[in-house]
Parts: sequence; C-alpha cells; structure tokens
Amino acid sequence: MDAIRLRFPHGLFAALREQLLADIERESFALLFGQLHRVGPHTLIKIVDVCHPRPEDYESRGLAHLHLRREYVYERLVEMQRRGDVDTLIDVHTHPFSERGAAFSVVDDRDEVLFHQWLNDTLDGVHYASIVLSRGDYSARLWEYENSRPRARSARIRTQTILERWPSLEEPDDPEALPAALDPEQGFLARSTLALGLDVLRHIVRDQCVALVGVGGLGSAIAENLVHSGFHYLHLIDPDRIETTNLNRIVGAYACDAEEGRLKVEAVAEHLRRINPEARIETHPWPVEDARVLPALVESDWILLSTDNHASRYTTQNLALRFGIPLISAGSNISVEDGRMTDMSGEVILARQGDRLCLNCLGRLAPTQIAAETVDGLGEVLERRGYVSGREVKEPAVKTLNALIAALTVETLVNQYTGRPTAPVLVYEGHALPRLYPDHDSVTQRRKDCFHCG
Ligand SMILES: [Zn+2]
Ligand SMILES: [Zn+2]
Repeated sequence: MDAIRLRFPHGLFAALREQLLADIERESFALLFGQLHRVGPHTLIKIVDVCHPRPEDYESRGLAHLHLRREYVYERLVEMQRRGDVDTLIDVHTHPFSERGAAFSVVDDRDEVLFHQWLNDTLDGVHYASIVLSRGDYSARLWEYENSRPRARSARIRTQTILERWPSLEEPDDPEALPAALDPEQGFLARSTLALGLDVLRHIVRDQCVALVGVGGLGSAIAENLVHSGFHYLHLIDPDRIETTNLNRIVGAYACDAEEGRLKVEAVAEHLRRINPEARIETHPWPVEDARVLPALVESDWILLSTDNHASRYTTQNLALRFGIPLISAGSNISVEDGRMTDMSGEVILARQGDRLCLNCLGRLAPTQIAAETVDGLGEVLERRGYVSGREVKEPAVKTLNALIAALTVETLVNQYTGRPTAPVLVYEGHALPRLYPDHDSVTQRRKDCFHCG
C-alpha cells in the first residue's frame, strides 16, 4: 500500500514550520483540520485550516515536553464538528532539541494512542493524524485501527511546489544518488541539468507525477515537452481516437493511427516511450468525469489541463480543488470571420491551492456552455437560440500555436521547481504583431468572493 499523502495549500507548511520553530527553547504545537479521501489504493488528507493555540492554552511546555489544556482540544473538536467540511484532526508539535531526525518519542506514542482511542470512542468518523518537526526534517503518520488494535501508518507531506518541501525522516534526501538520466556525460538529461541545475532535475526525475487531461493538439505537445523536460511519470487522460483531420497537429500521431482509429493516449504514450524508455506513461482512455481516472489524479503532484470544452475543464478543476492538487490550465483559440483571422491567441493559467484564484473567478468558464455540454438535449436548444457555439462546429487549429502554448505551459511548470517568477495568467496573442504578456487585469478584476477556490 502506498504512503499516505498530507496535502498542504500553497505557503501553509512553510509558514507553520517558521512559526512553530521560532521558539527553539520550548516545544510548540498547532492543530490542523483536514479532509480525508480514500481513492483506490491511495489515502489523501487535504489540509484545510490551521489553529495556533494562545499562550494560555498551554498547560505547561518546555524544551522536551508540552501539555495543552484539555478544554482547548475539546473546543477545537466542537469547532470541527460544527464546520462540517473537515473530518480529520492533525496535531503538529516540535522537537526543537533535535537538529534532525524528527522521530516520535515513546511519550508521543503513548499520548497519541490514548487520544486516538478516546476520539474513536467519543466521535464517529473523525480521523486522527500527527506530525513531529525537528529543526531540519519531519515525521508524519495517520492512526487507524487494525483488528481493533491502534496502528500508525507512515505519511508524507506534499506541498504545492517542491520549493516548500522538507525532507522526511523516513525518506531523507540523498544527494549522492544520481538517476542515470542525470549522468553528466551520458545522461539523457545532461544538457537540461546544465541549464536548470542538478537539484531541480533530481526532483523532477525522481519523485514527481503529472496528470495531463486532454491529449489532443495542445495536450500532445505538452506531453512531449514534459518528457523532454525530465518528467518520468505521467498519466494521460483522453477518451478520443485519432482522425485524419487531427494529423496536422497531434505530436506522435501518424497516418496509420488515423486509419486504425487509434486512441490518442495510446499513440502519444508510444511516442513518449520512444523518447525515454525509462519513463512510466500510464494511459486512461476515459473522460475525466469517469471515476476510473480518480486514482491517477489523486497521486499526481500537478494536473495539467488542455481540453477544449467547458464541461471537462470545470470537472477537472473541481477535482483539483477537491484533492488539493495544483493546476495549470492551457488553452488556445483561433477565430476567423469572413475569411480573415480575428483572433489567434492562447493562455496559461497557474492555479495552486491557496492562491485563491481559479478558472471560475477569472471568468474562464461559461455556465451556459457547461450546461449545454452536460445536460442532454439542452445543447441543441441553447445553440438554436444562439447562446452557445455549436458542439459539432469544426474549430480552426494549427500546430504552431499549440506548440507555443505547450512550451509556455511546461515552462510555467518548470518554474515551480526553479523558483523563477511566473505570472498567474500568461497570454499570447499572435493574430496581429505577436505579443506575450502577463494578464494582470484578469487577476486583479477576478471575483474575490469565489465559492470554488476561496
Ligand atoms: Zn514529541
Ligand atoms: Zn476562484
């Protein structure tokens, strides 16, 4: 069974660490509220909120001990029950006496077993996890019952970007271990390493998983860029088959694939495996609405979205928000009126959990279009009345625009590892004199009371 993931929104884990370890004379404590999801073999706890006790909430605390007032914990439990959006309590405490090697002590084990038992006897459906921080690493676990015995399962913290990451005691960083792809002489990524640095590539190669929703003209070019950038573990999600009219733009699709009506995910996966036989490419020939894609999404560190309809974009973003996974959305558009190109543009949107920004509040999802695409028969009605554009309309599409937007999309992703600054919304316009700019207006004018990402 794979490790349990504790997913933090952007900035929260770094802030928590900083605040709790500011006092290195005494142990410190915080309580997190989370939502637990079990999907296939994966268990994921999305961290939703943090509570810091006030000084008077501590009964006693010192360099190697800590006691909270019982009332404080009860009050938090009542608060949690009242909220209704969280079902997991995660306690976090520090071992400021340890430089490294954050291991739960015998006292921690005893206290947590007792608290878990009390919680289990008192409340239904409340899960309990814990984290201990030393000054240089952490350990985390989820308490469960197995054959009516308490059992701790080891957990891993996943932050939105690798820049916020901290080593786990059970999975320490080993700067000596070098994947073959990064060999400075013979490695497939030797030249990338020269550009981006070994540390960046080591993370990308070793422990990152990316899900790509939509493997058409734009998505296939993104997939190829991902593999060339060193990503070794990809999920390709798309139910469509290759047609002859796709061959002007799908990377890795051949005429014979169109003749056979081959699945896009299969053709693209084969292309990627030819570039890097070491890469693990999983194919999911289903729409993102299909529950069979959920385990792939849950284990991904990033979701990249490149479908061209509002309903699947809406669903994908909802899943990213539900599981706390950062999203990068890519889109392109060409409009032609009376034989003249009036728009040729694309954009890349970066929406990490905690950024308080999403496709809804940016006005990038049209509710009527979503309804037209999802409600049987409604599409035709809305189309006749001119509310939405036809679902069967053949949209103009060219490879060059897709290639540009795909490169910008993967650049935006790689920037999340290098720390290079990225605009939340990046726009390319190519119908007149080409322009590439960060779209600050969209960001400042977005709906601030967003129900989806707020
Ligand atoms: Zn402890
Ligand atoms: Zn939003």
